Amino acid sequence: MGKVIIVRYSEIHLKGKNRGYFERVLILNMEKALKGIKHEIKRTSGRYIVDGFDEFSEDEILSKLKKVFGIHSLSIALKVETDMDKIFAAAKEVCFTEGTFKVSAHRADKLFKYDSMQINAEIGGRLLSTYKNLRVDVHNPSFIVNIDVREDGTTLIFNHFHKGAGGMPAGTSGKGMLLISGGIDSPVAGHMIAKRGMQLECIHFHSYPYTNMQARDKVIELAQVLAKYTGGIKMHIVSVTHIQEEIHKSCNGEYMVTLLRRFMMRIAEELAKKNGAQCLITGESLGQVASQTIEGMTSSNSVIKDLPVLRPLCGFDKDEIIERSRQISAYDISIRPYEDCCTVFLPKHPVIKPSLQSVLEEEGKLDVENLINKSLLSVETVIL
Ligand code: ATP
Ligand code: MG
Repeated sequence: MGKVIIVRYSEIHLKGKNRGYFERVLILNMEKALKGIKHEIKRTSGRYIVDGFDEFSEDEILSKLKKVFGIHSLSIALKVETDMDKIFAAAKEVCFTEGTFKVSAHRADKLFKYDSMQINAEIGGRLLSTYKNLRVDVHNPSFIVNIDVREDGTTLIFNHFHKGAGGMPAGTSGKGMLLISGGIDSPVAGHMIAKRGMQLECIHFHSYPYTNMQARDKVIELAQVLAKYTGGIKMHIVSVTHIQEEIHKSCNGEYMVTLLRRFMMRIAEELAKKNGAQCLITGESLGQVASQTIEGMTSSNSVIKDLPVLRPLCGFDKDEIIERSRQISAYDISIRPYEDCCTVFLPKHPVIKPSLQSVLEEEGKLDVENLINKSLLSVETVIL
């Protein structure tokens, strides 16, 4: 009796003619996630079977595959030769000794002489006479013994469906540049868009030496959390210290965040285009803070030349974002106290609804092009 992992995919089957392409990308992403762990992946009708792994790698494989987008659910199954006694022996293994249950058989191998109803009755009957505290409840059982009689002469038996990451395989929906801070929101925003199949590249702005190395390490760790879902991430780290200093020196302090956002957007667009990213992604949520009013977004949007800006969290409350942040294991990193560049030089009263005209007036006091070029010279790129 061996063990395998059954991998079922999500929406891919909806993709008609593109199905083959989506399946190829998914299998590549699975292979990437399992790199360095002994295993074999086989495709069978509508699913994959992971086989040939050592028993001690089972949990690791499961947890890695749970992060691969495009996978709907996974089950650890016992694999036996298709033979009623062997199927029963495995069914006994996955069966709890008390509670309500049902047997749910599926027979792809039409040569096996029992049909699915007969398998249900036979295995169910044998389990009932083995475990006296079991009862059948076909409508609302506390567990199900699933039996999958495959065409290749083997049968898979399992009792649980683990939830997969869902979404679409990474890399099937183009590439986006995520503006990532050390906060809670932007990693969640990146995760949501990556889940829809988009490859992510990250850009982070720092104000070293006003912000410290721990702040930088924290953002790298957050990007690494995302990389576990996307199979790797390229990250650009850019200095905006001189920009903040210049705004502080020359402009009305209330406009610090508003003006800095416009610089970030311009630099992000420039780097996005250079690296083939087709959109920008931010963690903004409407009305959450002063710079995230519709006026603030209008101001930062108006410097973008032609890429769309995706703001997947726009309609989310903070508690909904926090819940997602916990789900993707980013929260504990995000709440570490190190400062993001925006808190340096932060005004006591930031402008809340900046009119575009007043923003332009303030920005007019700066040599925008020069400041951007200086930032572009500071770009450091790391592969995570
Ligand atoms: P977050 O939790 O993502 O930091 P926030 O609620 O703190 O978001 P802001 O600080 O106003 O909101 O930032 C809004 C968005 O701007 C962020 O979600 C992120 O996409 C981008 N951003 C802010 N600071 C930086 C930074 N230092 N580097 C890159 N992007 C940033
Ligand atoms: Mg922030």
